[in-house]
Amino acid sequence: MAPMRILVIGSGGREHALVWKLAQSPHPTSLWCAPGNAGIAQERLASNGAQVQCVNLGAEDLPALQTFARDNQVDLTVVGPDNPLALGIVDSFRRHGLRIWGPNQQAARFESSKVFSQRFMEKYGIPTARAGTFTDPAAASRFAAALGGRCAVKADGLALGKGVLICRDMAQADQAIDEVLVRKAFGAAGSSLVIQELLAGMEISLHALCDGRTAKLFPTAQDHKRALDGDAGLNTGGMGAYSPTPFLGESEFAEASRKILDPWLRGCAAEGIDFHGILYPGIMLTNHGPKVLEFNARFGDPETQVYLTRLENDLVESLVASVEGALGRLELKWNAAPSVCVVMASAGYPCSYAKGKPIRGLADAAQLPDVKVFHAGTAKAGDQIVTAGGRVLGVTAWANDLRRARQAAYAAVEMIRFEGAQFRRDIAAKGLR
Ligand code: AMP
Repeated sequence: MAPMRILVIGSGGREHALVWKLAQSPHPTSLWCAPGNAGIAQERLASNGAQVQCVNLGAEDLPALQTFARDNQVDLTVVGPDNPLALGIVDSFRRHGLRIWGPNQQAARFESSKVFSQRFMEKYGIPTARAGTFTDPAAASRFAAALGGRCAVKADGLALGKGVLICRDMAQADQAIDEVLVRKAFGAAGSSLVIQELLAGMEISLHALCDGRTAKLFPTAQDHKRALDGDAGLNTGGMGAYSPTPFLGESEFAEASRKILDPWLRGCAAEGIDFHGILYPGIMLTNHGPKVLEFNARFGDPETQVYLTRLENDLVESLVASVEGALGRLELKWNAAPSVCVVMASAGYPCSYAKGKPIRGLADAAQLPDVKVFHAGTAKAGDQIVTAGGRVLGVTAWANDLRRARQAAYAAVEMIRFEGAQFRRDIAAKGLR
């Protein structure tokens, strides 16, 4: 592989993990991240010791990103977040002859339109919740009533991860339908909605790297969406993750792959959807087998942090294979050591929170073996690193077993301090029960 100049788009813990893993490859000679964060700016390339450079361009500023990629002869752009994908960044880079990793706008609809995804799952027999799609509030209400009011009301479009309303009775369902379709709480994202029956069970994340024809399934992971211990509190972007989970045995895992990925690939071929990137189905393990709650079309955050600390392949080679349709020849290899990521967040997150709090203890935590502190919302202020977002750090550790990995992650968390730091104390606890 020729030396490569790589641009990563995004600024969270996911992007820090991507940059960290890409930087270990011998292939890149320059690596930029737009806009990046303070931790990303500290990474160095294994090939030549060059520092990763953060570029002050927003992840949704498509024209500026494209100009940057062209002017700097970027050989590969790697897209982290969902928004630029939904805006069509892959299509516009490709039109200008720029190589870019991620699904095109049509393929990204698996995440950007829940109505599209639900209909696709039904058409191609992918196991999912019983559901209906609606634009008319009265029809939506009738369907919710048929479910006894116990349902998930989902705005069709991207709504900053807030467009899913869990309802347990008719009053809540009608309020949710009203909020989405009538009061337009999510703007245009709510011009239509999906109503799913409520499913009960253990929730896990699956990821598969795809190249248009082939999908390579990763091991399982589990995210922790709620802000507080015991899955209480508000929904967040994710407060921690671990991989693997003990909830799917080898044969159940193979079955999940067969029942979900095979029809998904068949459906993509039939519909002319050319999906290059990560397909990330959110799964409920029900008494009637695994069911897909939703599809995402990018890496999960914080799943990426635990996956990439386990992946043994060269990430540059893996992503190039995904872009070029060459995944059939690639075998993904995973370190057996479980990995645990504990997110440290700002006080108040996921609601409003303060920024600019100095973070102490990072240098000490960096000395720990088998620990990596990924930065999410951090910035440099003078020679200090300060908080700059809701999720601040993803403290990640790996070890021979899940219990030790968890202990190591929390030992590192205890070394790091910033005013108002909040984190869950039960990350990976379900996996140890
Ligand atoms: P989604 O963005 O569709 O994954 O929904 C966000 C969260 O809502 C999921 O992680 C689940 O915890 C919950 N959820 C979504 N759909 C359902 C469903 N049909 N039944 C139960 N919980 C759900």
